[in-house]
Amino acid sequence: MSLAENNDTLTERYHNVVQRIHRAALKAGRDPAGIELLAVSKKHPLEKIAALQALGQQAFGESYAQEGVEKIRKWQQQHPETKLVWHFIGPLQSNKTRPVAEHFDWVQSLDSAKLLQRLNRQRPEFLPPLNICLQFQPVPEPGKRGVAWPALAQLAEVAAGLPRLRLRGVMSIPPRTSDPQEQRALFEQVRAAYENLRQDYPLDTLSMGMSGDLEAAVATGSTMLRLGSALFGPRPD
Ligand SMILES: *Cc1c(COP(=O)(O)O)cnc(C)c1O
Repeated sequence: MSLAENNDTLTERYHNVVQRIHRAALKAGRDPAGIELLAVSKKHPLEKIAALQALGQQAFGESYAQEGVEKIRKWQQQHPETKLVWHFIGPLQSNKTRPVAEHFDWVQSLDSAKLLQRLNRQRPEFLPPLNICLQFQPVPEPGKRGVAWPALAQLAEVAAGLPRLRLRGVMSIPPRTSDPQEQRALFEQVRAAYENLRQDYPLDTLSMGMSGDLEAAVATGSTMLRLGSALFGPRPD
């Protein structure tokens, strides 16, 4: 396929996704403006990011520190006038916190006090505080990222005390189930944790819902959908 055909497909997918979010919002009795779309661009080239930016997309999510930082640097060199908002959403290793703190605008995948403290220390003074979400796991299992309640509340307290971080909300990747009722029940648990925290902190971001489950996420109160394959098509490996 030529690049032009590729971009036509991307444009079509983008408009379809925006419509899908609209329909899900109306069905849930919600204002579509209250649901932000994060375009998950991991493993996709900068050209596709540029094509989506031209359609009005501003927020992009990356899951691998090195790949993400390289893309951000290149974007800033090639498009110095056009500011994007970059979210780190993948598992973060403590030896990768510095480049993430220096380049990203948000980190959503935080599940330890150690990571919070490192990012706070490493966030450059000339940048605004780093926006963060804590990763919540409604069904804790060994080896899974994210923390359960009450560890979530303890992390929120740590984050709120760190001046170079700005606690914005909760992110979650609940287990996938084929039963829509069950899927919604898991999202409801995430929302309940978010609402609990929101009694103590001024939060505005409930980041849940991916390409396969965005309708259930919108129905249960998501304010940010993280969409990869629905926008870009299958990821190259
Ligand atoms: C890859 C990824 C997504 C996007 O997944 P799709 O199913 O392609 O929409 C969302 N969130 C996180 C944390 C991811 O790593």
